[in-house]
Amino acid sequence: MYDMATKKVKEQARKVLKDVFGYDEFRPMQEDIICNILDGKDAFVLMPTGGGKSLCYQIPAIMREGTGIVVSPLISLMKDQVDALTRCGVNAAYYNSSLKAAESKDVLARFEKGELDLLYVAPERLLTKAFQKRLEKIKVGMFAVDEAHCVSQWGHDFRPEYVRLGELRDVFPDVPMIALTATADEHTREDIADRLSLQKAKRFVSSFDRPNIRYLVAEKRQPLTQVLQFLEDWKDCCGIIYCLSRKRVEDMAVNLQRHGIRAAAYHAGMPGRSREKVQDDFLRDRVKVIVATIAFGMGVDKPNVRFVIHHDLPKSIESYYQETGRAGRDGQESEALLLYGSGDVNLVRRLIENVENIDQRRVEVHKLNSMVALSEALTCRRRVLLGYFGENMDDDCGNCDVCMDPPETYDGTELAQLAIRCVQETKGDFGVGYIIDVLRGSKNARILSHKHEKVKSHGQGADINGDEWTSILRQLVHQGYFQQDVSRRAALVVTKKGKLLLKGGDAVLARYQPGIKRKLRRFSQGRDEALFKKLVALRSGLAENEDVANHVIVSDVALTEISQFTDSIEVESLKKISGMGQHKLDAYGDVIVALVNKHTSARASGKLSETGGFPKLLAKGPSPTDAQGHTWNLYKKGMSAQEIAELQGVNEKTIVNHFIALVRAAMQVDVSKIIPNFDLVMEELDDADPYASLTEMKADLSMDLTNEEFRLVLAWREGIGVS
Ligand code: ADP
Ligand code: ZN
Repeated sequence: MYDMATKKVKEQARKVLKDVFGYDEFRPMQEDIICNILDGKDAFVLMPTGGGKSLCYQIPAIMREGTGIVVSPLISLMKDQVDALTRCGVNAAYYNSSLKAAESKDVLARFEKGELDLLYVAPERLLTKAFQKRLEKIKVGMFAVDEAHCVSQWGHDFRPEYVRLGELRDVFPDVPMIALTATADEHTREDIADRLSLQKAKRFVSSFDRPNIRYLVAEKRQPLTQVLQFLEDWKDCCGIIYCLSRKRVEDMAVNLQRHGIRAAAYHAGMPGRSREKVQDDFLRDRVKVIVATIAFGMGVDKPNVRFVIHHDLPKSIESYYQETGRAGRDGQESEALLLYGSGDVNLVRRLIENVENIDQRRVEVHKLNSMVALSEALTCRRRVLLGYFGENMDDDCGNCDVCMDPPETYDGTELAQLAIRCVQETKGDFGVGYIIDVLRGSKNARILSHKHEKVKSHGQGADINGDEWTSILRQLVHQGYFQQDVSRRAALVVTKKGKLLLKGGDAVLARYQPGIKRKLRRFSQGRDEALFKKLVALRSGLAENEDVANHVIVSDVALTEISQFTDSIEVESLKKISGMGQHKLDAYGDVIVALVNKHTSARASGKLSETGGFPKLLAKGPSPTDAQGHTWNLYKKGMSAQEIAELQGVNEKTIVNHFIALVRAAMQVDVSKIIPNFDLVMEELDDADPYASLTEMKADLSMDLTNEEFRLVLAWREGIGVS
């Protein structure tokens, strides 16, 4: 009997999931959580960012009789959520200080008439006497406390307004309450349960792994260059760069702007209005990169943040997890890059030394050490990260820098002993750079003036280059063989452990300088970039009209799926697209279908290149020479132009010239994979003025192509018979 009822409830929940939200399947735990609430019981949900917490209360609120009251900490988040729900056809509203008097009145009137499925309320409003009176008059279906860690002083975002939420349990003992948080820290979790009187609530704890985030750590060398290089890979994508100080934030933002990147700074020292504007511009994709102190993030529920860079070392693994977690909420491939420099470790250590309370200082030192260990890990980063939160992994993740590019280690004992002797012989007064000069046998003026060309170790490390020595000395500092004396310009000092090593202590395991290879393909794989871009433009227009964030209209996930259609479609076809519920189909189906069909028919008529099958090429030039034939063989093995060039020790241009000859010889080089944004380039050439010169045509392209690349496209067009 009971089972029958549960089955029926499950079916109904699934129907809401599909019809309203447009999703086919529940994510792990969502269904159980929803059934638990529908059964009238409390729940405490611990799920990582992007896990899909919102649906856990939205669906029961829609299904249960009465209004679901949602407590949420930030006004901007409330508006975003309500916008999104309204687009799905749900009766939702919010009640907070941002509403004008007339709007408030309107919301309350709808609320009292019982028209609302969900009402988002700011905590300080919820607990006013006036509002409590209203609550007594209407039927409350459930309470949801989102971002529940805000009740705890141990959490990373304590909000005093949240403290009194515990009282709700006493006033409404029969209304089920669900609290949700992404906090991974055990201490905070217990505190939340206590404060919200949820000790007896059923707990739903999901894995805190975020498999779609790739964790990368790189040694910090020239941070600006490193950041710019990284951004090259994420052109036109949104991301966040965290820096330790306001000054660094401002410098970095200006530098990025100089390089043509739409970046903005964000820190607590800016006036509230400017901060709001930056957030809003970011939400609407007008600003692509936010450079911020840790103050940024909590209020931003942006699903398509593709990368998070830590320019400076986070203070703890908790903060690192929290901040990197802002990437990839939509489940698409994302990256978290940490630039790790030992200077930063010292900086954070000094900050911690200022903490007065001894116990607190001890805790912070421990947290920092754990963060350092993660940064220097020789094993899978994800394993270390999850292990810190008490979660074990069976296999290495395959999606972090260590897994993708395992550091080779070697016995560095002799090098360590040499470095230690060198520091001792020079009397421990010098920093890393000077010691390296001595080891490498430099006879610069400074060395001569100290007569250090005479010490035994001088020149004994000459066969190792400067960068490698830097890396080795840093590792020795981290491993405790040296200390750096901050008061004497970071002079290296041999520690007890270091002195022991000279007498034959444990072997030192050193690793070669980590370099990051990122071999994985981007998630754009398989989508028609030209169509995707058109869809993005369409969405921007719609969002602008309705004055909401882009992702409220349709998500990037949905656009990616839509841009995989190759034939003409109908509104019905959009039903299988993730996130296209009935309401959105009605509202946007027609315009999307029109755009897709225009694009696919242009492609069918040969105006656009095929993304899949190969068109037949016509020979327009002589058979390949030996060198070109060699390139062809390497290309067939799957090597890129760059790799072929490196292998043969020639310029990449030469190889592209080979490709041109190969295409002209009707060999099937897939030009669409070589030329960035190939479809768009082809399309623009189709539209080009037929009387324009080649130089003019090239100049008119929105993409920057090299001369060789441009000639390659032309050769291709000739080959497929477009003049
Ligand atoms: P959280 O609040 O836990 O960070 P959200 O509730 O914002 O996560 O959900 C993250 C993303 O996943 C949203 O874009 C949401 O629409 C999507 N999502 C949630 N549940 C599902 C599901 N069952 N199927 C597909 N997408 C889902
Ligand atoms: Zn890994």
